[in-house]
Amino acid sequence: MKQQIRKYAELDLDALFKKFYDNILSSKDLSNFFRDDAHIRSLIERQKVFLLDTITAPDEEMRERYIKLGEIHYDISVPYVDYVFGMHLLEEGIIHNIVAHGEPVALLDATFQFFKLVRAYTAKGYLNKMLNADISDIDLYLSHVQRASDIDTALAIESMIWLKNVLFAIKVENRAVAPALHMHAETIDAIKMVTHGDKVLLDYALDVARRMELDAGNIFFFIESGSYEEVLPLYRDLLSIYKLSLMLTNVVTIASTNSLVQKLAKDQLTGMLTRHSLHPMLRRELLLAETGQYALSLVMIDIDHFKKINDQYGHLAGDEVLARVAQVAGEAIRATDFAFRFGGEEFLLVLKGASHKLAATQAETIREEVERLLFEFEGKPSKVTASFGVATFMAPFELSYNQMIEAADRKLYESKSSGRNRVSA
Ligand code: GH3
Ligand code: MG
Ligand code: MG
Repeated sequence: MKQQIRKYAELDLDALFKKFYDNILSSKDLSNFFRDDAHIRSLIERQKVFLLDTITAPDEEMRERYIKLGEIHYDISVPYVDYVFGMHLLEEGIIHNIVAHGEPVALLDATFQFFKLVRAYTAKGYLNKMLNADISDIDLYLSHVQRASDIDTALAIESMIWLKNVLFAIKVENRAVAPALHMHAETIDAIKMVTHGDKVLLDYALDVARRMELDAGNIFFFIESGSYEEVLPLYRDLLSIYKLSLMLTNVVTIASTNSLVQKLAKDQLTGMLTRHSLHPMLRRELLLAETGQYALSLVMIDIDHFKKINDQYGHLAGDEVLARVAQVAGEAIRATDFAFRFGGEEFLLVLKGASHKLAATQAETIREEVERLLFEFEGKPSKVTASFGVATFMAPFELSYNQMIEAADRKLYESKSSGRNRVSA
């Protein structure tokens, strides 16, 4: 039977392969890959030999060779759908020859079966490469975050390890070594804890978990039946749902940060955090920034000639200025950032993951908004300005908290001494 398929494949294989490559070449991002016509001809020659050899090869050898072929196609970035489309052209051509020669249906069935396996094993090659890349990404992530001790980071780590174990089980094609596909009760408890009974967040988390469980279950089902072709889209789906769940972890981080901040003492007048919690907060944030490998920026703000307002219009007027400037600054920062009342009329912003440029831009925005504020004291319109100092730090963080704050303070002093109402970064 195999010899017969081979015979019909040989009939006009040159024409078929030409069609195959014309199809691949019409996809423009691949045309760069082929140097010239001579290159294509030599590839066609090799593919022809490959196809004919694999038709008659023992099953195990055929499997190995197509898995390898899939891996190579993945490496040179041929989209799997393009490969499959090309294969369909070959299959069609051979089937056409068999039908034209009035061969029995059994030969057609054997040909269909052969190409089905070709697609499945090539898909397995693609899958192998994807699994390796994703598993090493997860390892990289884990090697960075393992030191973190917060509950929200612990959640992320736990779910990453879960995913890694699922991927490993897919790779070795053994459901038995996979972790339980449903979310653990402890994980659900942890999510409940950090979302503080927020039903929308919790329902979302559980829904994501259900979809991952379903996808992972289906992946194992198709792997066990050797239908790797079905596995590919499911695998992509699993990974994209997983990205959603990582985003969810971020949402949870924000929720837990917010609830943490709610518990801290706030300055009565400005609603900002008091200086009291600055050091413990910086300790936590530096740890998170170091494990997450992101920058941390400090912005020191000081209202210009504030004493004059107090002197001219009294303390209550001064208080109003303080409250409104603080409001502007507080509203300009992100949910995960922090604002402290650092001194009398000085504020310190802690911007998580903000580059130097972003922090400077943010400071400039606040400066402009403060400048636009309109006050009315004793019937007279009045305005204020503020000066800003920006300092950014990257992991590994080597300075003490005080040295970091001093760096932002020095920049603020630059703004003051060069005319006030400006940002020094
Ligand atoms: P500069 O532009 O150099 O910053 O001048 P400045 O007048 O703003 O600086 P200075 O530090 O000399 O003055 C700060 C004043 O802020 C002195 C203090 O009385 C006043 N202040 C501190 N806390 C409060 C407060 O809670 N309410 C009011 N109304 N004033 C405050
Ligand atoms: Mg001051
Ligand atoms: Mg001042």
